[in-house]
Amino acid sequence: MPQRPLDILIVGGGIAGCCAAIALTRTGHRVRIVEKQEAWRFQSSGIFVYANGLESLGKLGLLEDILAAGFPVPEGRNAYYDHLGQPIVETFYPTADASRIPAILGIKRAEMHRVMAGRVAALGVPVQLGTTVTELKDGAGGVTATLSDGSVARVDLVIAADGVRSATRALIGIEVAPRYSGVGVWRAVHRRPPELTDKIMMMGPAKRFGIIPISDELLYTFGTVAEPGDSYYAPDDWPRLMAARFAEFTGPAAPFLAELGAGTEVLYTAVEEIVLPLPWHRGRVQLIGDAAHASTPFMGQGGAMAMQDAVILADALSAHDALETALTAFGRARFPVCAFVQDVSRAVGEAGARETGDPSARHAEMRATAQDKVDGFYDRLHTLTEAGGFGL
Ligand SMILES: Cc1cc2nc3c(=O)[nH]c(=O)nc-3n(C[C@H](O)[C@H](O)[C@H](O)COP(=O)(O)OP(=O)(O)OC[C@H]3O[C@@H](n4cnc5c(N)ncnc54)[C@H](O)[C@@H]3O)c2cc1C
Repeated sequence: MPQRPLDILIVGGGIAGCCAAIALTRTGHRVRIVEKQEAWRFQSSGIFVYANGLESLGKLGLLEDILAAGFPVPEGRNAYYDHLGQPIVETFYPTADASRIPAILGIKRAEMHRVMAGRVAALGVPVQLGTTVTELKDGAGGVTATLSDGSVARVDLVIAADGVRSATRALIGIEVAPRYSGVGVWRAVHRRPPELTDKIMMMGPAKRFGIIPISDELLYTFGTVAEPGDSYYAPDDWPRLMAARFAEFTGPAAPFLAELGAGTEVLYTAVEEIVLPLPWHRGRVQLIGDAAHASTPFMGQGGAMAMQDAVILADALSAHDALETALTAFGRARFPVCAFVQDVSRAVGEAGARETGDPSARHAEMRATAQDKVDGFYDRLHTLTEAGGFGL
């Protein structure tokens, strides 16, 4: 328990905001959330959560409910194919405790949020939907936050969990423009054939197409491809465009691409990242999640980083009486981990979108090195996370 329970305002009720609300309430603080959406309305599509993110969900007491709502990939198996459906190699993702924590969980985003928001409500955390912060005044004794409904909240700490385009970040004078990665991601949700249980990655010519189960009934497909920075595509056209972008993919992708049409849930996202040096706080206002360190999605780690942020921020506030010391310690613990994820993910994404040349050389290299790369990434991630302390 902290020496003094803090009054905390969280801006944004996504993965980072909900997880922070849960972690901080469980460690004795008084928390409220403002969320700009008028109603909980979460983007379609799925997300995969690797063992490190699931461990954080375990610390938040959410693991069982999240596992029940998603689909654990057997043995953490990731099967690679070329774009015509020829097998290349299989890799297996690690987990320290396979009996309790799967190596990879696929889950529908809306389902994950239903579990998180349900726990926030069960803990009695007030959530004001359709509300944001319009002004922050940081003084010696606390922060005065003016909300968009005209009310004023006086709190000890503001947590900006308002995503890659965080308006709170700008309110505290941190000017950082999201960097466009050059890559667009096309995502869709489909019925899952019972036999499809692996995570599948198909390696196309400068494109990737992924398939992952997200429940007993559903699966999620995603395709990555270079897109111009200023591209705009009308949402009604997304199913047709997704089918056209990945038309050269056959094999396991074919039935899902064939069913893209007016009734399919499709989402297009131009991928951006936030590269921000420390400090990630100004006075009593702390950035977490994508607001501080949005990553490209090629390592599937952004959500896990947001979950870990929540756990470690609560730990840092419990470990240090002085707020400034706690927030500084939080940033120092998290920066190396999040920067590592960003760097590896950026390199993987850029290499994938720009590659030319002989795919057979790529496949030979994958057969020789793919498992070592997975293990090397997770070993390093674990080492950096442990070095940050606070028990994760
Ligand atoms: C294409 C793609 C695929 C991805 N796949 C994966 C994956 O498989 N695995 C994984 O771990 N990660 C993945 N990620 C990353 C992951 O989605 C993000 O890292 C994660 O959602 C970050 O959570 P967050 O809560 O910080 O931000 P967000 O999820 O963006 O949530 C921010 C919340 O703040 C609210 N908000 C915004 N502005 C305001 C405001 N001014 N006032 C109040 N509220 C506000 C928003 O409505 C939202 O509810 C992917 C990302 C992309 C783009």
